[in-house]
Amino acid sequence: MYKCGNCGKQVETDKGVVRCPFCGYKILFKERSGNVTTIKGR
Ligand SMILES: [Zn+2]
Repeated sequence: MYKCGNCGKQVETDKGVVRCPFCGYKILFKERSGNVTTIKGR
């Protein structure tokens, strides 16, 4: 599962095609389900 860097909608990757079907944006961010990487300052 990916997240669009433009509209922020969740995008499912299919056959290596990484492109937002909603706005056509080509830059997506990886989203890990159940394992969200968070950066916290100490
Ligand atoms: Zn989009």
